[in-house]
Formats: sequence, structure tokens, C-alpha cells
Amino acid sequence: MRTKIGLLILVLSIGACAAPRASLKTVALEPTATPTATDTPLPPAPVLTDAQLLGIQRPPGMIEDPESGHEALPAVIHAFWKFKQQAKADGWNLILVSGYRSYRDQRIVWNRSDDDYLQHGATDQKKRVEAIMSLVSVPGLSRHHWGTELDISESTLRGQLVNVEPDTPERVLKFYAWMEENAPKYGFCKVYLGKNGAVHNEPWHWSFLPYSRGYQKQFMAIQDFKRIFDINVEDVDYLMRNFKRILKVEKRSINPACD
Ligand SMILES: [Zn+2]
Repeated sequence: MRTKIGLLILVLSIGACAAPRASLKTVALEPTATPTATDTPLPPAPVLTDAQLLGIQRPPGMIEDPESGHEALPAVIHAFWKFKQQAKADGWNLILVSGYRSYRDQRIVWNRSDDDYLQHGATDQKKRVEAIMSLVSVPGLSRHHWGTELDISESTLRGQLVNVEPDTPERVLKFYAWMEENAPKYGFCKVYLGKNGAVHNEPWHWSFLPYSRGYQKQFMAIQDFKRIFDINVEDVDYLMRNFKRILKVEKRSINPACD
């Protein structure tokens, strides 16, 4: 399990670094340079096509968090900035580790993870794919495609996505407890609790619920998933054969409070 967690951190950092915009991470901004949001009413959720929900096309009008270089829908980034301000007042320095990811970004993350498992001797396809699925979404099924999902870390966690284990440092647990108490005030819901379904507990993954609730309903009503079965996705044959079950497991993994 530890290896998997180590791998997850590696995989996600690889995923984030795979995007050209990651180079912006080196740009050091003064803390006061973080843009502030005004208290304007929340605009209605942008209408997304099925192709956008599947990551094949970009959602419209996304903006970038200049500090991290990651993108999301404008309301999501604005909510994050407000949240970051409160966090700062409470002594936490939030770091955005991932936002929007395209189908291609997710395919890179998936394939690298698959290669890593193979290199560690995971030759049984079923076991390998199930293990990857507990850590990495199948390309096309990642909620990060919607522009509503953020992976959030903190500077004392060195910007890493740290899992909760029996020996997890107190500081990390305190941070996650603070996040759970405060993120909902800004519209964020913790999606993966690791209690049901296949996906591991992800205390860093937050969904902007005012938008993602509707997108999730639309996503679950999609009938035609053929376009995500790309021959360049490792183990796509397994994914195709087991897709109905995979989709069910994916749905079951979601915190009912975010549904
Ligand atoms: Zn995530």
C-alpha cells in the first residue's frame, strides 16, 4: 500500500509536470499578488458538452491560477482565491497541485502508472488495472476534465499530496481537519472518502459543488463512451470489456454529499 501511495504522489506530480503550463510554477509571486475575488453572485454553470465532460474538448473560458499555472473554470479559481485568503489568515499556505486535466493529460498519467506497475512485476492485467483505478482515474472518467476539481496541498506539506496513514504527522492531520471544516464554506466538497467503491481516500481532492453536481448528473447520463476507448490507452481492452462495472464502481466511490 505504501508503494502505491508513493507511486500516487509520483504519478500525480508527473501528471502535473506533463502540462507545459507547469513551468509557471517557478514564477515566485509576492503573497499579496494573489488576486482577490469580489462578492458577486455566482454565475450559472457553463454548459458543457459530453465531449467536454470526457476531457476530449476544453471547457469554455477557463482561467489560470498564476501562482501554480493550473487552470479551472473562473468561478472555481475565484472560490479558491477567497479560500486561500482565509487559509492564510489561519496560518495555512494553500498550494494548487492540479486543476483542469484534459483526456490527453489523463492518458499520460494512466499510461505512466501502468508502466510503473508493469516494471514492478504486476503482470496480471486484472490486478494491475484495479490497482491503478484505485489511484488514477481512467482517461475520460476523471472529474478533473470538468474544470471544477482541485487538488490542494499546503506549503508545510511541501506541496505534496500526502495520504492519511497511522503514522501521518500531526501537522498534516490538522491541515486536513482544517480543510474539512472550511472548504465547504467556499463550495468545495471532498469527493473521495475511500469508504465505498474502488477509489482510495483522497483528502486533497476538492470539487466545486455548485457546478460539479449538475455536471455529474449529466456525466452519468452519457450513453456513448466509445470515444474514450483510445488504442493508445494502456489496457484499453480490459477497460472496454469491464466498462459497465468500472462506471458503477466510479459512481459508488463518490461521497454522497457531493452527489
Ligand atoms: Zn484530484
